[in-house]
Amino acid sequence: MTEIAHNLAQIHQKIATASARCGRTPEDVILLAVSKTKPVQAISEAIAAGQRLFGENYVQEGVNKIHHFAELGITGLEWHFIGPLQSNKSRLVAENFDWCHTVESLRIATRLNTQRPPHLPPLNVLIQINISDEQSKSGISLEQLDTLATEVALLPGLKLRGLMAIPAPEPDYDSQLAVCRKMAAAYEKLKHRYSTVDTLSLGMSDDMDAAIAAGSTMVRIGTAIFGARDYSAR
Ligand SMILES: *Cc1c(COP(=O)(O)O)cnc(C)c1O
Repeated sequence: MTEIAHNLAQIHQKIATASARCGRTPEDVILLAVSKTKPVQAISEAIAAGQRLFGENYVQEGVNKIHHFAELGITGLEWHFIGPLQSNKSRLVAENFDWCHTVESLRIATRLNTQRPPHLPPLNVLIQINISDEQSKSGISLEQLDTLATEVALLPGLKLRGLMAIPAPEPDYDSQLAVCRKMAAAYEKLKHRYSTVDTLSLGMSDDMDAAIAAGSTMVRIGTAIFGARDYSAR
């Protein structure tokens, strides 16, 4: 077993334990493997171990990887864009990715909608919420959600699937849980309004247990699968 296969098995075990603890089934929590900065070889190892969903933060890097696996004829992979999206890069996301987790304005949603090629299914999108209300962080406030969701839901090139957040680090589990529950409440409301909504992208290595307890349906894990990142190579 490769180290990556071993790590994946360990994460699945952690997801199962966290789910069982709050009476959820592990199948309700999807694992997104965050492969940013990692070479295609590492992704191949994860694929060999059964992983199919990958998250990328940098548009061109992600597109190169998507093309690499497409050229190898490997199908059934799902590529999620999870990084901050500048409008001059939206076309590459619309043309290549399956999901975008970081929609935070009507402007970017409109561009993605227009640029999504008609032969592809609608781009799955999540609206990013700045749940910890950090000045420097991406995402809209919960107060702005209803308006943006209404607008996004009308765009035929996009499919509104739910919400995403990157909560600020919290000192303990209870504080993490409190933040995650705010997200879960907003998600439940949205789900009630739109039948397409089924995804709450919440939880990383440090707050995965709290996110699952609150109701996350997709956790985003990088380092614990692929090891520490080396940004000097970028
Ligand atoms: C990098 C990243 C992750 C994964 O972080 P790790 O600490 O490597 O597990 C998850 N979500 C987003 C949005 C990221 O940018």
